Amino acid sequence: MTVVGAGIVGLAAASRLLDRGWRVTVLADRPTAESTSHLAAAVWFPTRAAPRDRVLAWGAATYAELADQARRGVPGVVLRESLTLHREDPGEPWWAAAVGDLRAARREELPSGYPYGLRFAVPLVEMPVHLPWLTEHLAERGARFVTRHLTRLDEAAGAADPAHPADLVVAAPGLAARELVPDPSVVPVRGQIVRVSNPGLTLSVRDEAHPGGRAYVHPRTDDVILGGTLDEDSWDTTADPATAAAIVARCTDLVPELARARVLGTVAGLRPARPTVRLERGTLADGTPVIHDYGHGGSGVTLAWGCADEVERWADEVAGLARRPGPGVPG
Ligand SMILES: Cc1cc2nc3c(=O)[nH]c(=O)nc-3n(C[C@H](O)[C@H](O)[C@H](O)COP(=O)(O)OP(=O)(O)OC[C@H]3O[C@@H](n4cnc5c(N)ncnc54)[C@H](O)[C@@H]3O)c2cc1C
Repeated sequence: MTVVGAGIVGLAAASRLLDRGWRVTVLADRPTAESTSHLAAAVWFPTRAAPRDRVLAWGAATYAELADQARRGVPGVVLRESLTLHREDPGEPWWAAAVGDLRAARREELPSGYPYGLRFAVPLVEMPVHLPWLTEHLAERGARFVTRHLTRLDEAAGAADPAHPADLVVAAPGLAARELVPDPSVVPVRGQIVRVSNPGLTLSVRDEAHPGGRAYVHPRTDDVILGGTLDEDSWDTTADPATAAAIVARCTDLVPELARARVLGTVAGLRPARPTVRLERGTLADGTPVIHDYGHGGSGVTLAWGCADEVERWADEVAGLARRPGPGVPG
């Protein structure tokens, strides 16, 4: 079988299919280091993805998976304490059931200007560490990686080896689904983030309703990711210096210690958004079964493993396999 796409969504699906004994080829038109997944802040948090009921289920499964990977020491995956900040009582967020222990922040845990906050633990994935590891790990388990640009998804089954076409295709091409499938409901939602030196921070902090725009502060091992923007239908991948300065300023409102941080860089990427995530079965023009797995918006890292579970179940049905417990995710 062939997975089209080597971002986090395609790699998670490939991992689950290897668990089930499939011979897996991962086909992508560029190295994973050049994917949207690589530059993501990559913190568990449902953003610009729908519908809520399915996002909650996929998000809960992904949360549990990433928390387990963090406990097992999978490279790049950590579980961080986090704080969301609010000017009005947030009540219980709709995604609360996915994260388990969630409590109101105590007054002394809140920066000035914020009467409310929520505390919970979130998985954070340091993508420049994790994605190379995951790719290598999948290759060691037998996945074949092929670099090839497709112009139409219908070419996918025979693309890696025309003599032995794939019996199943998983389509995880992110934003490229717009042209490849084609699916015009897939649109870019631009995000700019700033990387700064870490002045000793360990707590992830966010304010989704900062008057200047969304603000989040995600400490990693060697740096901190500051965000961000959600620019609907913008294809511009050039990072804007004024936007970067505004991101640093509003993040410093949340975490004053950032005044001591040095700016290391700023990038802009395009989230693959869609009115609803497409996780759906279909058939390619040549009759090959396909499982679509794209349109995760700002939540690819938050949903990838839950979606991969569903891909795994459907792949079993395609193969006529009876369900049996799989050996679990790489560790
Ligand atoms: C600034 C920013 C911050 C973000 N922060 C978070 C966050 O904190 N948490 C979170 O959950 N999400 C976050 N996201 C969103 C997340 O990055 C995406 O949802 C996720 O990366 C989508 O993964 P994907 O595998 O579907 O797509 P991609 O990573 O884009 O991978 C697509 C793959 O398809 C391949 N491909 C594309 N076209 C073709 C073709 N024609 N032929 C062959 N192969 C092709 C590519 O080579 C690539 O391997 C963020 C995004 C941005 C931009």
